[in-house]
Formats: sequence, structure tokens, C-alpha cells
Amino acid sequence: MFQQMLINGKLVGKRSPKKTINVVNPSTQKAFAQVPKGKIKHINKAVKAANKAFPAWAATPLEKRQAIVEKMADVISDNADKLARLLTSEQGKPMPEAMGEMAWTEGYLRHYATLEARGRTIQDDDDFKIEVRRVPLGVVAGICPWNFPVLVPFWKIGPALVAGNTIVIKPAPTTPLTILKIFELFNNFVPAGVINVVTDENDLGPALTNHPDVAKVSFTGSCETGKKIMASSASTLKRVTLELGGNDPAIVLPDVDVAATAAQIYGGAFLNAGQVCLAVKRVYAHKDIYDEMCGELATLANEAIVGDGLQQGTTIGPVQNKAQFKKVKAFVKSARKDGKILCGGIVKNKAGYFVNPVIVRDVKDGDDIVDKEQFGPILPVIKYSNIEKIGKQANDTDFGLGASVWSSDTAKATKIASQIEAGSVWVNQHINIGPHIPMAGFKSSGIGVEQSEEGLEEYTQIQVMNIAK
Ligand code: NAD
Repeated sequence: MFQQMLINGKLVGKRSPKKTINVVNPSTQKAFAQVPKGKIKHINKAVKAANKAFPAWAATPLEKRQAIVEKMADVISDNADKLARLLTSEQGKPMPEAMGEMAWTEGYLRHYATLEARGRTIQDDDDFKIEVRRVPLGVVAGICPWNFPVLVPFWKIGPALVAGNTIVIKPAPTTPLTILKIFELFNNFVPAGVINVVTDENDLGPALTNHPDVAKVSFTGSCETGKKIMASSASTLKRVTLELGGNDPAIVLPDVDVAATAAQIYGGAFLNAGQVCLAVKRVYAHKDIYDEMCGELATLANEAIVGDGLQQGTTIGPVQNKAQFKKVKAFVKSARKDGKILCGGIVKNKAGYFVNPVIVRDVKDGDDIVDKEQFGPILPVIKYSNIEKIGKQANDTDFGLGASVWSSDTAKATKIASQIEAGSVWVNQHINIGPHIPMAGFKSSGIGVEQSEEGLEEYTQIQVMNIAK
């Protein structure tokens, strides 16, 4: 299979060995498709096309822009099965999760299609009419990671387009296929240049973030890359939204139903093989329930069916790529040194990047597996005894994306939750997100906000129209 890029309404890229990138199935380590190896000239063409398309798109009535975003949702829904198979083949996640990503994407788009970047009138009297308008920025660059290769681009495309901007998407190098296919499906109803996509070998991001005609960069990915993007956007004073890494704590009080809480925490930790920015990445379990919580989590992990996401019954797919697999291996090694592994580990003698879910106990703050974002199927459980101090302890990190507090006493849990320095804090649940709920990070987890009306505003700038009468 060979899938081209979409630039200025044309499918671009030649199928020749020197000009293509292999798309590897992480369950087999075999290349099963090719995409073009984009060059700087493709970035320049895509930005030029987006810039050219911008005035007409910005002038298109809001209802028409919303209708096009709604049509995107229809097309994704109509092709969900086929697209989900492609997604599983390149990303690894089990088919039900891939279908879930399609349904999520559809739902987000349908919500964005109802939004409007609203201005307001400050004064309208005999002397002046003063209006605050929300006008589009121009060309947006959307730089995306490999964990949700379809959902994350549409977190950018939907609001950018509704607000009147045009966009250039750069997928992650290991997961370009499904989004390219979707752009091809959109090409007969989205005006040329409004959406463009360029694939790369992890080398073209700077060409977008430096580009003088890109007005805004919306980035989702690691903290390290986020810092580079902010630095390189500075010379042209681009607007940036950075949705970065997380190391979400789940704080469990001693009064919980341990089995029920463990099941929910397990779900929040091992979705997409743990490769979720908002996954539970550290469990703080009170000493009175510590052994029971570790045991319940290990029981659930032992029941996991790890394998090819295309096979029916698989509950955890492979780690997405070789580099991440190497990182997860190092975490398993350090966890073995610092604590006690209750179950799971690297699957040997199998071609894919498979890891049986790991539960590690007797680890503490300061250990790599607790302090760093593991981004894989491995979960540390830390014992604590002082409920008064646990919020402060969990805050002792540069991350601040999400967190959860679990207790049968909601008021008590909410009091601790209020002390947590994170953009999304949940009580008795983890990862409840949606297009109507703002999503942001504290500290190194990000700058700006995505989703909801607040997220939409980030794709606009304020213009004051001040008319003397
Ligand atoms: P990454 O930072 O390695 O790569 C993300 C994207 O940035 C890729 O498209 C990559 O090619 C591009 N890139 C790399 N160097 C660049 C540069 N110098 N300039 C511009 N672009 C560059 O991240 P990843 O490994 O693909 O994704 C995993 C990370 O993403 C995790 O830390 C995870 O927590 C985070 N993430 C965050 C959210 C969120 O909403 N906060 C959502 C999903 C993933």
C-alpha cells in the first residue's frame, strides 16, 4: 500500500525506494505500507497553499465552515471500520480501541461543528461602538504524536477550521498512514489548501516552526520537543499551544472498595498499552490497603491478553515503535532494581514490541519508574501513610497534566484534589475528557488549552473595532 500526502488539494509524493518511508506494523516489525518522505520543499508548498487559501476560507460563512467539519465527522464514521484496521496495523492498539478512536474523533468533530469564536460588544451608544472580535490567525501548523494518530490531529483541525484558519498537519513519522488516507477522503469537499499534510522522518518539524508564514503552532508531544518548538517559534513570535507529557498520580485513600478502584485505575493506566498522556502513571496507595491494591492490580494485569491488535480478544497491543520499546525495556530494568515486579515483563521470542503489563511495588519517589513518564505498560505502586501530606508529595514533580483521588468520601477526596497542581483533576475516575471540557497542563505539561470554547479561542486573536459615531 502506498498513500500520498495532500498539498493544495493534490495528492503528492512518488513511490520510489529513495523517496518513501516504510510504515512498520509494531506487532510484526514488518513494513506493510509506504508513504512519501517529505522534503522542505513540501513544507514550503503546503504553507504557501494554506496561506493562499486563508483569505477565502476566513471569509467563508461560519455555517459553511461548520458544515465542512461536520462532513469530516460523517466521512470518518462511514469509513470507521476500514480506517480502524489501518490504524491498528500502524499503531498497534487493539481493534476495539481503534474503533473507539474513530468514534471519539467523530464526536469531537461534531462538537467543534457547533462552536463559534464569539466576540462581544463593550459599548454601543451615541458616541462609540466598541466591539471585541475574535479573528483567525492564518496558517496553523499541527505537529502530532504517535499515540493517537487520528484523534490528536483533529483536536487541532476542528477548532482551527471553525475559527477560520487553514492548517498544515505533520504526523509522527511512525504513524502517518491513517491520517493520510483520511485527508484523501476529504479532498473532494474541503477547498484546496485549507488542509494539508506532510510526512517526514522526524526532520521537518523545525521547517514548520521556523516558517515566517506560519502564525501558530499547535503541538502535542513530549516536553523535550515542546521546549525546542517554543524556542524556534520565538524568532517569528508565533502563537504556541503545547500539550506535553504527563506523570499522572492516582491517590488512593484507605476507605475505598479496593477491587473496584483497582479495576478503574488499571483501565486508566493500561489503555493504549499505557501510551496515553493522561494515563495513570503512579499509584499512591495508603499503607492500610497497599498489599491488597498491589494484589488486585497484579491479578488484572495477569488476565491481560497481549498480542496483535488485529486478533480478536487482544486487550493490550504492542508498544508503538522500536525507540519507545527500548525506553520501556530500560524502565523494566530499573524497576527490577528499585522495587519488586509482581507480574509482567518484556515478551521474548516474538517479533512484535510486546510487553506483558508490569505492576511494580515497593518503589518510591526518586526512582526512575516513579519520577519519569514511562509511556508504556508498566505501573509503579507507592506506599504512603500521611493523608495530610500526600497532595504535596504527589506535586513534587515538573509534570502537571492530570491526577485522580479515590475515596468513598467524595468531600475528603475533593479537598485533596484541590491541592493538586494539574490541569485535569478527577475524583473517583481517571481520563474523563471530551470536546466540551478544556484540557490544559500545569508546569512542564504544557502551555495553553485545547478543547471547548477556551480551546477554540486559542485559534483566534482579539481585534478591537472602535468606531466613533
Ligand atoms: P515527540 O515529541 O517525540 O514527537 C511529537 C512530534 O514532534 C512528532 O511529529 C515529531 O516528528 C515532531 N518533532 C520532533 N522534533 C521536532 C522539532 N525539533 N521541531 C518540531 N517538531 C518536532 O513525542 P512522541 O514520542 O511522538 O509522543 C509521546 C509524547 O507525547 C508523550 O510525552 C506524551 O505524554 C505526549 N502527549 C501529550 C498529549 C497531551 O495532550 N498533553 C497527548 C498525547 C501525547
